[in-house]
Amino acid sequence: MASKTNLKALSRQELETFIRGSGLPVFRAKQLLHWIYEKRVQSIPEITELSKDLREKLSQKAYISNLELLDRQTSKDGTEKFLFGLEDGESIESVLIPDENRLTLCISSQVGCAMGCRFCLTGTKGLKRNLKAHEIADQIIPVSRLIAPGQITNIVFMGMGEPLANFENVVEALWRITELMKISPKRITLSTSGIAPKILELAEKAPMVNLAISLNATTDEVRDYIMPVNRAYPLKVLLDACRRFPLPARRRITFEYVLLEGVNDTHEDAKRLIKLLKGIPSKVNLIPFNPHPGEEFRRPDDKRVLEFQDILISGNITALIRKSKGQDILAACGQLKAKYVGS
Ligand code: SAH
Ligand code: SF4
Repeated sequence: MASKTNLKALSRQELETFIRGSGLPVFRAKQLLHWIYEKRVQSIPEITELSKDLREKLSQKAYISNLELLDRQTSKDGTEKFLFGLEDGESIESVLIPDENRLTLCISSQVGCAMGCRFCLTGTKGLKRNLKAHEIADQIIPVSRLIAPGQITNIVFMGMGEPLANFENVVEALWRITELMKISPKRITLSTSGIAPKILELAEKAPMVNLAISLNATTDEVRDYIMPVNRAYPLKVLLDACRRFPLPARRRITFEYVLLEGVNDTHEDAKRLIKLLKGIPSKVNLIPFNPHPGEEFRRPDDKRVLEFQDILISGNITALIRKSKGQDILAACGQLKAKYVGS
């Protein structure tokens, strides 16, 4: 028997072709997308708008794939980490972060990551594979079903992987999340380690989501060492791309800055950072390093972190210290590794 078609794995055009090929009118494609992404059903029989006959007929040749929930952990601070299994047995993590009136889901774009940042647990183990568009968008579906009647308000691409290294799938996923799931691009943030040419391509090809840059250093020497991507796209090239990024009115680029004791946390660094960001509508998120097993770095003490923030503020830069959530369950920034890593 021929294997069944996964409806989620099809692009809109492929779905229309499939529907026509099944002898059905093309409006059924739109209807299916609506039920899969807006109503967030997980199987064809749940699509009650279709007659029972039609659901049975479709089920004979097609199915809807779902991420398999393998584990769910809750942190003392309310952060939750979900471990999902993919159809080929790989696994990824997504993190749900409650904060005042927001509920942010942090999603993964790759299994692992090839960028090799030295301070990041995901990065120390290399790339297993890119996620497909539907696997990226799908992280939202089981989580919103599990937490119903609560509502995910924001999406951040800050889980495992470098989203701009999986460009096509991320653009397609963004399309599904905004157009089909109806989550506003204003509530979506994509974070990148700085693949400069792709930053500008993103502005052309994807809905206008918020951009975050993991900057993490103020000299090429230090950045080369902690983030190898800098050797291809050094600070000047990266910040030029940020300057050329067509920001909508009143929006700013977020610069993430992981503070590593003795590496990038000096007063000189703070002053250089002010200079580097000149002319870019920006805000800075300071993230004191989250330790993980086997790392070479340390988190600076609170006094040092506050001094760094004060210098930025006195240079007229909005600078927030990000409380790291979910550390007790390794759900904080840079602590995701899913199952395969370390085995
Ligand atoms: N690959 C993308 C998206 C992942 S975001 C990127 O790097 O931007 C992950 C964020 O966590 C990045 O801003 C990264 O700088 C930060 N991070 C990684 N390891 C960390 C650690 N051990 N402690 C604190 N922040 C970390
Ligand atoms: Fe990859 Fe981002 Fe981690 Fe760097 S910080 S290794 S780009 S996930």
